[in-house]
Amino acid sequence: MELHDQTVKSLCLVYLFTGPKGFVRADAFAGDGRLPFETSRRGIFAIGDVRAGSTKRVAAAVGEGAQLVATLHMYLTQAVDRLRIMIGPALEVAHG
Ligand SMILES: Cc1cc2nc3c(=O)[nH]c(=O)nc-3n(C[C@H](O)[C@H](O)[C@H](O)COP(=O)(O)OP(=O)(O)OC[C@H]3O[C@@H](n4cnc5c(N)ncnc54)[C@H](O)[C@@H]3O)c2cc1C
Repeated sequence: MELHDQTVKSLCLVYLFTGPKGFVRADAFAGDGRLPFETSRRGIFAIGDVRAGSTKRVAAAVGEGAQLVATLHMYLTQAVDRLRIMIGPALEVAHG
């Protein structure tokens, strides 16, 4: 049980860039090598009230969530492509 608790803690210890008011920086638009809503940490996204510059309304948070679905599909597709590039040569070696 203790090991499980430590594992959870280590997974949650992630530092993200924030704005001057402490909200997480994640632009709603792609740019600077980042996908929409991607934080300073690749693969971590922020939407809703926690995001710097968000509207702080229920409808806005829900809308950002809906937008994020498309972004996540894009991110996962890119991640699979990166994995193929990384392990592709290893697979060729393994299979002769
Ligand atoms: C008093 C008040 C009245 C409001 N009235 C309106 C209104 O009339 N109309 C309107 O549109 N908006 C209103 N808002 C704003 C609206 O509530 C927010 O914009 C909306 O809830 C944002 O949704 P969210 O999912 O981004 O964040 P939240 O709804 O705040 O959800 C974040 C969740 O994360 C949880 N959480 C936080 N830290 C952690 C952690 N470390 N680990 C796990 N979970 C965590 C929180 O407990 C919470 O459940 C009001 C806000 C307040 C405070």
